[in-house]
Amino acid sequence: MFEKIVIANRGEIGLRILRACRELGIKTVAAHSSADRDLKHVRLADESVCIGPPSSMESYLNVPAIISAAEVTDAVAIHPGYGFLSENADFAERVEQSGFVFIGPRPDTIRTMGDKISAITAMKKSGVPCVPGSDGPLGDDAETNLKLANEIGYPVIIKAAGGGGGRGMRVVHSDAALNNAISLTRAEAGSAFGNDTLYMEKFLENPRHIEIQVLSDSHGNAIHLGERDCSMQRRHQKVVEEAPAPGISEELRNQIGEVCANACREIGYLGAGTFEFLYEDGKFYFIEMNTRLQVEHPVTEMVTGVDLVKEQLRIASGEELTYQQSDIKLRGHAIECRINAEDPKKFTPSPGRITQFHQPGGPGVRVDTHLYNGYTVPPYYDSMIGKLITHGNSRTSAINRMRTALGELVIEGITTNTPLHRDIMNDTHFQSGSTNIHYLEKKLAEANS
Ligand code: ADP
Repeated sequence: MFEKIVIANRGEIGLRILRACRELGIKTVAAHSSADRDLKHVRLADESVCIGPPSSMESYLNVPAIISAAEVTDAVAIHPGYGFLSENADFAERVEQSGFVFIGPRPDTIRTMGDKISAITAMKKSGVPCVPGSDGPLGDDAETNLKLANEIGYPVIIKAAGGGGGRGMRVVHSDAALNNAISLTRAEAGSAFGNDTLYMEKFLENPRHIEIQVLSDSHGNAIHLGERDCSMQRRHQKVVEEAPAPGISEELRNQIGEVCANACREIGYLGAGTFEFLYEDGKFYFIEMNTRLQVEHPVTEMVTGVDLVKEQLRIASGEELTYQQSDIKLRGHAIECRINAEDPKKFTPSPGRITQFHQPGGPGVRVDTHLYNGYTVPPYYDSMIGKLITHGNSRTSAINRMRTALGELVIEGITTNTPLHRDIMNDTHFQSGSTNIHYLEKKLAEANS
């Protein structure tokens, strides 16, 4: 096992990684920006290195500074967390060329999966079901594109091959709007992702977002850890996640899970990963793979008992998976609410000093956050400041625990989206487990009208 690693991330995930390292006896180096000296994991880490000014471009995305942090501290590996450089193949490659271990998949795997077109091609080859679509990049010929859209059938969605974070997508309902939508999306994708390659997919009207967690080691072992339902989204961003997904039978879970585990074996996948699917009328359609730890990983940990971060560390250090598929049994139900520092109505960021913080507790309650009394949420980064996770024997019990926990949560000094989570937990459609990816947007639009 590694002796010392660099944590190249911040916030709650920095702390989550630090805790896993402590349990495995790994020393930690917190690589942080100058705005993050007071972060909880920076204070708790064995060592810390300031890698640059507040701006992410000059710190958390500053490849040479992060590699230097590993060099000067004699660390042997780098954990990228999520976001920032976690899915950057060039970074993973630089880490390896500099003689360190990148805690994640091989650079070529990240590269293949980072391009949605090559990801879909690779997955199709491995037998993963995909959304009907263009089977490759879209050209500029108006006639060919119209023909393709009609073959797929409207509505279609134009997506950027290099897109992410819910950006670079446009839904088209008719021939009249198609080619203009392609030009607009191409221009946006070019400036946002530096890659204007586009593809076309059938736009599924009422799908749920269901994803499969996998772990795969360097000895040819791969397992799946069931699914998460992340249909509760605002602007294509997840707000609430749960495991298992309501209404998915064990048979269907094992079937799609096995397809994903197989794909991992075929591509020689390394580490933790997630296959994201849209699910409609009993069928799964692959949309993309995340080659990293995900924000919502705790719900899977709560129902399987597997510590995904410790498994990532073990796999990266060359050890064999500690679990076989038959060891993975789902117990109960878990829900996660992402707590954001934002205006509860307008959703604009709300950084500032926390004057009071009381976290909920009791059976089946887990709080993943770096907040403490007196901590100042800086304005430079993502607005997510923590995650509230509850576990119960049933979905109803997990929801009831979440309502109780949200009632106990006190964050003063800044505003948060806690009121939205209270509304969701009290929503009868959510309670019945029948919401799709458009539900939350519709609910918010109705509340505002
Ligand atoms: P990103 O990498 O930006 O997160 P994804 O491909 O994962 O992009 O898509 C994000 C979200 O966009 C999905 O969760 C879903 O809500 C919506 N979406 C993407 N593709 C489709 C599609 N073919 N039909 C309907 N909705 C889609």
